[in-house]
Amino acid sequence: MANPLWPLPQLYKKPSMVWSALDLLFPPFCCNCGVLGFELCPDCIKKIVVLNQRNLCPICGDISINGKICSECQINKPYFDQLRSWGAYSGVLREVIHKIKFNHGLGLIGYFTIPSVGFIKSWNIEIDYIVPVPLGKTRRHYRGYNQAALIARPISRNLHIPYKLRALSRVKETSSQVGLNAKDREQNVLNAFEGDLEINQNKSVLVIDDITTTGSTLNECAKALRNAGAKKVYCFTLARTPISINLLEELEAK
Ligand SMILES: [Zn+2]
Ligand SMILES: [Zn+2]
Repeated sequence: MANPLWPLPQLYKKPSMVWSALDLLFPPFCCNCGVLGFELCPDCIKKIVVLNQRNLCPICGDISINGKICSECQINKPYFDQLRSWGAYSGVLREVIHKIKFNHGLGLIGYFTIPSVGFIKSWNIEIDYIVPVPLGKTRRHYRGYNQAALIARPISRNLHIPYKLRALSRVKETSSQVGLNAKDREQNVLNAFEGDLEINQNKSVLVIDDITTTGSTLNECAKALRNAGAKKVYCFTLARTPISINLLEELEAK
């Protein structure tokens, strides 16, 4: 599939001479294929499947022929206005997100700021501020960082849209969503978030996370923001699963 957002300009600028010197001593290698000189090499970047929005549901972003509202959204409209993801959670992007999340591959985040910014600009939505999906205290403690916040902050800077961490907080520690089915995921995150009643009044909010699986976490975030007075809630994630690449390619070939 042609990838409209690549090739990209210099995406990840090393912040100082110290980093350049460190790169000479310990050259980076591609997290996917291992080639030296890049944290993510141009060949692997080209393999990322950027989602064509034409065949996705305009509300939840799941596959839907000709972009019609899917049956699930017709029956059970989510709390968010729209959920959009940039790429398909498979192959290289899956590898990259895994590295970001579980292996401290934080340098990789910079590769996705400009494509995400381009995507959000082309989306044409009005946003008052950006907020990441808050991580539970226990996981934050063990991981040491919230990857959603590290993805969201440079996007907000590039878009010149405020970043408001306090707009949304996690009020319930939840277990990992990995391995849970859709119903259990929904139960697991039920009422896990709370929106700030002052910040969110009548505002249009963009919530950012790394991956969408069933959308239940983002839906709960949107519910909390709406209960706190937000008038619009949009959600953006770098990747989406379980998008079937084969089905999407079939639809696009038509
Ligand atoms: Zn590579
Ligand atoms: Zn839908």
